[in-house]
Amino acid sequence: MKHQQYETWILLDTELDQDQHRDLQVHLKQCSQCQSLHLATHQIAHLFKNSPIPEPNPGFSTRWMTRMEKVENRKNRLILGTTISVISIATLLLLSSVGIQIRAGIAYFPQLMLEMITLVAKWIIFLNQLRDIVSPLFRVGMKLISPVWLYTLGFSLSGITGAWMLSLIKSRTIQRELHS
Ligand SMILES: [Zn+2]
Repeated sequence: MKHQQYETWILLDTELDQDQHRDLQVHLKQCSQCQSLHLATHQIAHLFKNSPIPEPNPGFSTRWMTRMEKVENRKNRLILGTTISVISIATLLLLSSVGIQIRAGIAYFPQLMLEMITLVAKWIIFLNQLRDIVSPLFRVGMKLISPVWLYTLGFSLSGITGAWMLSLIKSRTIQRELHS
């Protein structure tokens, strides 16, 4: 049999019957070219069989995930806490300034009280809406929202509310001046 036939058998890893197999073994002993080819194909096959797709150690990835979650949770709590604190402080300051205004205008007390209740009710509705907006944002993914954005949101909301309250107080003062 010709050398080329053996070469084809080796390269295509052909299924051989007993006679063919014996022929090949005989040829391999005589032909160094086929011998090295046979060896090379076996080494390649062996290499593929023994090289599984590298996967990260499950212990390692679990540890890493847990650690990342811990860091994320701590960061989320910090941002949420800071934002709530900023809004609360701003609210308290503004409410106390409104309170002083109330004490000064004791004659208008029932009217102001009504206004105050309306204001608080509005605030509760506003904060509820804010929570409905903010909490899904926290859940959906802190990675997408930079903390800077949350700070900006907190400060701008406080600022807008402050401006609104100040204009309210101012209009009341002007009204009082006009009445007196
Ligand atoms: Zn050969």
